[in-house]
Amino acid sequence: MVYLTGAGPGALDLLTIKALRVIREADVIIYDRLANPDILAEAKDGCEFIYVGKADSHHTLPQDQINEVIYQAAQKYDTVVRLKGGDPLVFGRGGEEALYLRKRGVKFEFIPGVTSAIAVPEYAGIPVTHRGITVSFRVVTGHEAAKEKSQIPWENYKSDDTIIFLMGLHRLNYIVEKLLEIGKPKDFPIAVISKGTWPDEKTVIGTLENIVQRAEGLQTPALIVVGRVVELHKELSWFESIDDQS
Ligand code: SAH
Repeated sequence: MVYLTGAGPGALDLLTIKALRVIREADVIIYDRLANPDILAEAKDGCEFIYVGKADSHHTLPQDQINEVIYQAAQKYDTVVRLKGGDPLVFGRGGEEALYLRKRGVKFEFIPGVTSAIAVPEYAGIPVTHRGITVSFRVVTGHEAAKEKSQIPWENYKSDDTIIFLMGLHRLNYIVEKLLEIGKPKDFPIAVISKGTWPDEKTVIGTLENIVQRAEGLQTPALIVVGRVVELHKELSWFESIDDQS
């Protein structure tokens, strides 16, 4: 059995009970850089660990090779855990891994994880929806944003939806440009949150006009939140100021 498992956004205690159960049962854990490495300490003695991603995302194993590593592990072991940051099906390619396994007759289960798309803004005191401000939110890949033939329907983003860009830090410039192009005002609120839910989480708040400069030097993983809900950070910030409160 292969468990395609969400590891949550970073903080160890945001792992689900079900994920923890299969991690403790696993004969092998296949993981990459987003999952908190402390999770591995929960594995049983003798569990094998296979790392399939390097710190620099450009050196991650190609997806077809990862699929094959998982498949081969399933030939060798009873309980395989494929651990992925956040939720396995939110830009996690868990669906591709599952299709590869299904084609070859290997049984799998998805174990949902707390996705960074919602939890990271939440740790920064930014609700993705808020009565009276927005009735919906979108989660978009920033990776796609810079491509010449981007599939992102920018014109649809004129609405008041909260927009959460994952994998967008290095394309922040471009994302801001596009948002201005479709008519968002220069003073429109935007936040960049780096290392969300980790002890060194850092949130930078700004506007479309100044965010590129303010976010300079922020570390990955980072996500971008665009919308009026960002203004609630002033009043709702809690995690990064936990030390001030105690
Ligand atoms: N499946 C994951 C997302 C994978 S895409 C999930 O559900 O969370 C990877 C992107 O997620 C990163 O580029 C970043 O934009 C975002 N991300 C993941 N963990 C994060 C964290 N702790 N803080 C900020 N962004 C994070």
